Amino acid sequence: MSGIYIHIPFCKKKCHYCNFFSLATTRYRPEFLESLLLEIEQRKSYLPSSKINSIYLGGGTPSLYSASDLNRIFEKLEEVFEISSSAEITLEANPDDLSAEYLSSLRSTSINRLSIGVQSFFDEELKSVNRVHSGKEAIESVKLAQDYGFDNLSLDLIYGIPASTINSWEKNLKILQELQPTHLSAYSLTQEPQTAYDVLVKKGKLQAPNDEKAIQQYEMLQDFLPLISMEQYEISNYAKDGKYAQHNTSYWQGIPYLGLGPSAHSYNGKSRRWNKAHLSDYIKSSENGGVSFDEEQLSLDNQWNEWVMTGLRTKWGIDLNASPKNFPKEWYDLFKEKAHSIINQELLMEDNGVFKLTKKGKFFADGLAGEFFVD
Ligand code: SF4
Repeated sequence: MSGIYIHIPFCKKKCHYCNFFSLATTRYRPEFLESLLLEIEQRKSYLPSSKINSIYLGGGTPSLYSASDLNRIFEKLEEVFEISSSAEITLEANPDDLSAEYLSSLRSTSINRLSIGVQSFFDEELKSVNRVHSGKEAIESVKLAQDYGFDNLSLDLIYGIPASTINSWEKNLKILQELQPTHLSAYSLTQEPQTAYDVLVKKGKLQAPNDEKAIQQYEMLQDFLPLISMEQYEISNYAKDGKYAQHNTSYWQGIPYLGLGPSAHSYNGKSRRWNKAHLSDYIKSSENGGVSFDEEQLSLDNQWNEWVMTGLRTKWGIDLNASPKNFPKEWYDLFKEKAHSIINQELLMEDNGVFKLTKKGKFFADGLAGEFFVD
């Protein structure tokens, strides 16, 4: 069982907060597509098993490619790998790309799940972070996608946007309820280094994220989503009727995956490697027989830290009785000792050797996981 991630590095314009590798241009799209097809061939023996259970086209904005271009990618994948007939195949899409014509053409592809980058249903908030679409387009794109039979639908929302209010966030959640997607990914706005947002905040042109507002909106999310039967199964991810994102879930379960495209990460159970985040280098190196990448062998420390981090982020928690590796006994002892004080702060709970974050602890997931790291 394995997954494939494909990174499409183009966007119409750059969102202020974005630190993904993507270029605000549509030039080189044809050249990139040819290189991607080459890379699929070149990486055919990377995965320990060629049975593919999930394919995720992310970016960037994969919905900038036509259905016939996407079909060329799927045909090549099918030629090289064994794709399960029940594979989850997701396309990330921006609302402004999802016209009736485009959605209709997507029905000719094997895409069976859409992840729509809504972020907010309010124009003022969208404009403040330089999103390319309007709130109205976001609502219409979701309805249209459902009309065209894309029932397995995930939306992205961002909380803590300075231009948002408690009232507008409440309305965002009500609109979400009306639209009834099967999945939601909700993220806090963060000020990442080397983003336009970081520069604009430092110049005093935009407000920095407000932690208090972000916590309040996150709590509203936590209270509201169970009322509409959306279960939080990971810190940032919620699903209806068990429709967990198979692709992301396999990352958290340590299942190998192949990442294709510039900046894409791959994992084969022993090492991680990541393609260079450079478009012309990607195109040149794929033509010359192999894409440039960096690699790290995963030490036991790294594997422990990842196990702790991913376990704490999911609803399944960390089960000390079902550890996937032979980690040293003292690491478990240290874990239990640290866990004790965090349980006292009501950020963590334990049930028969299974440790999970409390509702309060979920907001501090990454920081808390760091408490259990070894080096
Ligand atoms: S659409 Fe996505 S990848 Fe593109 S700039 Fe915005 S956040 Fe980044």
